[in-house]
Amino acid sequence: MRVEQLGDGTAEIAVVAGIHGDEPCGPRAVDRLLDEEPAVERPVKLVVANERALERGVRYVNEDLNRAFPGDPEGATYEQRVAHELLSELRGCTTLSLHSTQSYAEPFALVDRVDDATRAVCSALPVTEVVETDQFASGRLITHPRTIEVECGLQGTDRAAENAYRLVRGFLDATGALPDAGLDEATGRGDVTVYRMLQPVPKDEATEYEVLVDNFEGVRAGESFAAVEGEKLVADEPFVPILMSAYGYEDIFGYTGERVGVLGD
Ligand SMILES: [Zn+2]
Repeated sequence: MRVEQLGDGTAEIAVVAGIHGDEPCGPRAVDRLLDEEPAVERPVKLVVANERALERGVRYVNEDLNRAFPGDPEGATYEQRVAHELLSELRGCTTLSLHSTQSYAEPFALVDRVDDATRAVCSALPVTEVVETDQFASGRLITHPRTIEVECGLQGTDRAAENAYRLVRGFLDATGALPDAGLDEATGRGDVTVYRMLQPVPKDEATEYEVLVDNFEGVRAGESFAAVEGEKLVADEPFVPILMSAYGYEDIFGYTGERVGVLGD
């Protein structure tokens, strides 16, 4: 694990990159910020988490780090030990954790539940969707208090790296580390819509998968939303697709969700 800091003193703000080793956008954004050495008004900790997986270009070495929290210093897997070490570093910090997906090109935020702290940060980020992961948060860094995960875009793209950088700037603006550092388009946007994850959408073992709908675009009852070996899956009830992709996860397409409101409600 690599830990860097901007500014002096005990950091109460942290940015975490590289929880997954096949998501280079976060480490790229952190390196860009370190190169710029901005004069911060509050110290900021910058962490690159799963260095071994990043070196190998794989999601994880032994197990998914974002299912391994709180971890264990004597754990049998590399990720168990990293999870424990990372939580020690983040104690007391309002935290932004950078991810990317195979499902959606636009940035969006995930929180355990919207509360005062996460609402304040999410309203300042360049996102238009926030997802409450709720019952699916177990083992994830997101269960750490005052933690916001962001999906920066499609894995391995320059656009995801650019989005990651903008999200970090928006976060440092929102937390007072770099006031007014949020880029112009982060202000004056429309409402930020809040969704809640409801159910994983399982996929049977097969070789060919398709997702036929767009994430965050409501699916009607009776609509075909995915296909397995060309066989269409039809929605029993209306839902909002979240993190749905053909090959992003081993055993699920993604999640069903529902719209719960807008930030500020
Ligand atoms: Zn990730």
